[in-house]
Amino acid sequence: MTERAARTGRGPKQRWECRCGDPPILLGMYEPGGQIQIKVRDRFYEASGCVYATCPRCGAQHVLDLGPAVSDGAPPSQPAG
Ligand SMILES: [Zn+2]
Repeated sequence: MTERAARTGRGPKQRWECRCGDPPILLGMYEPGGQIQIKVRDRFYEASGCVYATCPRCGAQHVLDLGPAVSDGAPPSQPAG
């Protein structure tokens, strides 16, 4: 019998890490086109779109942008007034 590691049924999660050392520092996990789970201390925070994370080891700031493709010709919604 084989046990598959399919939990959510979506694609495999990608590791978002800082390669400042060995082993690299895990900053979070994310799915391509999905949500991002940022690892802060010992907890994971869900986020989406553009996310910033700072490596606890080297202090480098990383940016992960999983936002949807910007549509051309469609101006952003402006506030009334
Ligand atoms: Zn680092």
